[in-house]
This record gives sequence, structure tokens and C-alpha cells, in this order.
Amino acid sequence: MSEPRIEITDLGTWGTAALLAEYDPQGDVIRVNARAVERIRAACTAAEAAQFVTCAIAHERYHRAHPAAGEHETRHHAAAVSGLGEERLLVLLRAGARAPSAAPHL
Ligand SMILES: [Zn+2]
Repeated sequence: MSEPRIEITDLGTWGTAALLAEYDPQGDVIRVNARAVERIRAACTAAEAAQFVTCAIAHERYHRAHPAAGEHETRHHAAAVSGLGEERLLVLLRAGARAPSAAPHL
């Protein structure tokens, strides 16, 4: 299997949820929301912002490799790969979301 392209770019919002990352099968590209990375850097640490990027890429790569996998399994995998753990990942996802009330989607 070839490797996907990785982009860190402004994804804006997706409905009422804050879109933190996405996989686009058409272009075979994983996009990580640059705004979310900046928000996490501001609210947490630069190191955690970098871990978030690792986690988001791992998450989208897992979706790409296992299209039938559910969100829980995918998030569990990405939390383990990034070394964040699920509890801290949730804190970062909330920090990365546009508004505290918006449901973060990775
Ligand atoms: Zn997902």
C-alpha cells in the first residue's frame, strides 16, 4: 500500500462539530486542522500539540487501513500510538475544538 500525503491546513468546521482531521480517499491525503493544532499549543503545550498531530495522523491512517473499524477502536489505537492515552487525548480534543460546546471529531 502506498503512503498517503499529509497536510496541516485550515479545515474550518464540519456542521456543528469541530473537524480536527480528515482522510480524503480521492486524493489519498490526510489533513490535520492547523487551527486545532494552534489552539492546543495555546491551551496545553507545544509538545502536546505535536503529539496531537501524531495522534491525528495515526487515527486517519487507521481509518484508511481498516475502513470497517469503528470510531472507538480507531481512537483507542491512535491514543496508544501517540503515547497520549485516551484521557489526555480527550482533553486535547476539547482544547482543539472551536468552541467548548462543539463535539470534537477526529
Ligand atoms: Zn475517526
